[in-house]
Amino acid sequence: MRLLVVEDEPDLLRVLVATLEEEGYAVDAAADGDEGLFKAQSWDYDAIVLDVMLPRRDGWQVLTKLRESRPTPVLMLTARDATADRVRGLDSGADDYLVKPFELTELHARIRALIRRSAGQPRPVITIADAAIDTVSRSVSRSGEAIALTAMEYALVELLALHRGELVTRTMIYDHLFNEDDESLSNLVDVHVSNVRKKLGKNFIITRRGQGYIIDG
Ligand code: CA
Repeated sequence: MRLLVVEDEPDLLRVLVATLEEEGYAVDAAADGDEGLFKAQSWDYDAIVLDVMLPRRDGWQVLTKLRESRPTPVLMLTARDATADRVRGLDSGADDYLVKPFELTELHARIRALIRRSAGQPRPVITIADAAIDTVSRSVSRSGEAIALTAMEYALVELLALHRGELVTRTMIYDHLFNEDDESLSNLVDVHVSNVRKKLGKNFIITRRGQGYIIDG
């Protein structure tokens, strides 16, 4: 899953990007409202973390403009005790908010929930045939037995599972699993798919030749 973090405090931005990458997300960063809006309009992010007080264009303006074209889930970071900010954010089309300072674990949990909700999968564990995909522990088990997946294999399984029954194109896989600085070669997706099949069964991921991949569930 790919996230955009828009935050002008360099230390906080660094921490947010680093910890979200540790959680397995591909993360793009923007340090002001203009850059944030440009990236948010350019890529199909799974969720955006958007600070309210930003140079060039504040979080409200970014959100209002973004909502003209994209429904990307947005979590806003607001100032302490600013009830008016939170009300304004939710009324402007924000999906959730956190008050600074916040615990990183809470941010991570809220992002997971946002992504699941926007994919129409409100439960944290997605069950497909005899496989259980736990989006909180980022692990997969089959008939109760834990399956060891790499971070990228897990990310691929989660993306397909969140879109179960829908064709997921190679372009979607690139957009959602790699950040803007990633220059992985296209054939790597095939390698990851092949490895997942070895671990979860050869029919777990179905190839639609020339189109993409699908998990039927
Ligand atoms: Ca700020």
